[in-house]
Amino acid sequence: MKRFMQNIRKVVPYVPGDQPDFPDMIKLNTNECPYPPSPAVEQALKQSESDQMRLYPDPTAHALNAAIAKAYGVEECQVFTGVGSDDVLAMIFLTFFNDNLPVLFPDITYAFYPVWCNLFRIPYAVQPLNDNFEIDPKDYEKPNGGIVFPNPNAPTGIAMPLASIEQILTHNPDSLVVVDEAYVDFGTPSALSLLSKYENLMVVQTFSKSRAMAGMRIGFAIGSPTLIQALHDVKYSFNSYTMNRTAIAAGAAAVQDAAYLKETTGKIITTRERTKAALRKMGFVCTDSKSNFLFVTHPKLDAHALFEALRAVHIFVRWFDAPRIRDYLRITIGTDAQMDVLLSFLNDYLKQRGI
Ligand SMILES: *Cc1c(COP(=O)(O)O)cnc(C)c1O
Repeated sequence: MKRFMQNIRKVVPYVPGDQPDFPDMIKLNTNECPYPPSPAVEQALKQSESDQMRLYPDPTAHALNAAIAKAYGVEECQVFTGVGSDDVLAMIFLTFFNDNLPVLFPDITYAFYPVWCNLFRIPYAVQPLNDNFEIDPKDYEKPNGGIVFPNPNAPTGIAMPLASIEQILTHNPDSLVVVDEAYVDFGTPSALSLLSKYENLMVVQTFSKSRAMAGMRIGFAIGSPTLIQALHDVKYSFNSYTMNRTAIAAGAAAVQDAAYLKETTGKIITTRERTKAALRKMGFVCTDSKSNFLFVTHPKLDAHALFEALRAVHIFVRWFDAPRIRDYLRITIGTDAQMDVLLSFLNDYLKQRGI
């Protein structure tokens, strides 16, 4: 083989959920919000001027970082923003996970973590969830080069109590512990309340799910000024202008509208609980999801066959070809009307099979 071919960095990329585009589809496969972003976002977009586009954006994304700092009661020097939390997490892996000891994360979790480890050549060791699909804090009391997990976890939706996160933090004073709070706004207490107590904690959140802005690509990390400075140093060594003008303006507007966030997430939580109850009545087994999706299995159904049947009628959900969870479907919470179409399809599907 030619040397330049041998020198190619070989990676197995992350596979994101499909982005189908049918006018009649019910898209419940990538945990997007079924409602629009805050009206304040539309206002900010109207005011953004295209003649400003010739100028580079503010590399510090000051307007956005300051708005996030204010909304979460921290200093601006404690905020790092990126192009979605995927960008923020990738920067965190690159900046902080540089040990010979393995980074620890669960076996069933966000599938991007092992991809970044492989890309950046970071050793890692997965820690199996227990039989109830819960993270056991005791699994994170071994020597490690860092710890990362989502809370609530994905795709199980199961949340860990803050006391368990504290147990992980206190047992790992020498490790950075990253809590990926992509779904925290759907009813889980944030680990941000632990920040003042633990210098080894970093919390990551996103505008993609609860703030209905997946297409705008905004994520952020909050941590100590020292850790955030380290992240900025790496970012400015890579690409100074990650946050574009529109994202800075739209994000700043969105984060100031706390009332709207509460209203939309409240609606989604209500729909989630109603759908969960209806599915359980049909014999589905659901985890106690605290996110904007359900993780369900049915003892008498083949999950992949059901996934295909749903797809045929343009109802898109997620099925993972992965050990332990092949019998499960992950279903994003849509509007009440969308969930009613799903439930009615499932009702007929079960009836046709005499279940
Ligand atoms: C959706 C998601 C992310 C990334 O979202 P972005 O759109 O890149 O902000 C990160 N972690 C988890 C667990 C997620 O589900």
